[in-house]
Amino acid sequence: MTTAHQTAAAGEDYTPGRPAQNDKPRPECRHWIGAERHHCKAVDGVRLYVTGPRCSAHTPAALQGKPEVPPGPGWPIHRQEAT
Ligand SMILES: [Zn+2]
Repeated sequence: MTTAHQTAAAGEDYTPGRPAQNDKPRPECRHWIGAERHHCKAVDGVRLYVTGPRCSAHTPAALQGKPEVPPGPGWPIHRQEAT
């Protein structure tokens, strides 16, 4: 019996217990551009919205042609990371 399904990763240095590469992958815009049949995948100015990560051109408000909703009380613009 051969191990046909065993993919021998030759040359790939794999350290057990560590994620492959990206500890913090950059979020990319997940807006589906139907006309071009692919996701936006922009990485500049991407923020997390209810619908997922979106670039500034594809925020829920932008898609509806509305102005961006200003941050309200209890949801500060820049939350400090706990250090
Ligand atoms: Zn986008």
